[in-house]
Amino acid sequence: MARIVIIEDEPKISKIVRSYLEAEGFEVWVTESGREGAEWARRDTSLVILDLMLPDLPGEEVCRLIRQDSTVPIIMLTAKSSEEERIRGLGLGADDYVVKPFSPRELVLRVKAVLKRSGPERTAGDREPSGTRSYNRGSLVIRDAEHDVIVNGKVVFLTPVEFKALASLARNPGRVLSRSQLIDLVYGYSFEGYDRTVDAHIKNLRRKIEPEPREPIFVQTVYGLGYRFSGTPDAD
Ligand code: CA
Repeated sequence: MARIVIIEDEPKISKIVRSYLEAEGFEVWVTESGREGAEWARRDTSLVILDLMLPDLPGEEVCRLIRQDSTVPIIMLTAKSSEEERIRGLGLGADDYVVKPFSPRELVLRVKAVLKRSGPERTAGDREPSGTRSYNRGSLVIRDAEHDVIVNGKVVFLTPVEFKALASLARNPGRVLSRSQLIDLVYGYSFEGYDRTVDAHIKNLRRKIEPEPREPIFVQTVYGLGYRFSGTPDAD
């Protein structure tokens, strides 16, 4: 059974989210403490739902703690409606966010979508190829089974969203994918207002894979249109 850790200090919210998730068959652990939640996140947890405003630690700090040694998917709950602040959350390594007040149904949908794209079934059966692809004389290697990349010989961990975005682009070499196409490919469903979150994920991705993030050679911006993968595949 997939375990979900909810880090949230408002009992009204954690209670209703817990009941919705349990109804879907998830095992749910709830804590008000960011510190405790970050501990739990390291123990065989499938997904973390993280409130940004917590009594002991800011959610941003909790996210940083978890990301020190884990790529467990994180969905942030935020009361902050400013887009800048939401995007900052993604910049810290969250996979998705939901703005309060939210419908529990919507959150469950997001949880399932995030788990689907990060779970072990991600390469089984569906259209995604599994294998290893190498670009620019081995300086970038994309590994489907491991869901990671090797940059100049070093394994670099990507969040599920970052990996999916990169893999989607690399599977369509030279083709421009618009932001909404990327949202579709990455999240598996589309919703409005996410264009800038795509930019935030691409920015993080570039920081991890590009030799010079300001002058990207793998994931290039096509002004007004979207993004394009420009790596040169190596011969097998
Ligand atoms: Ca709170």
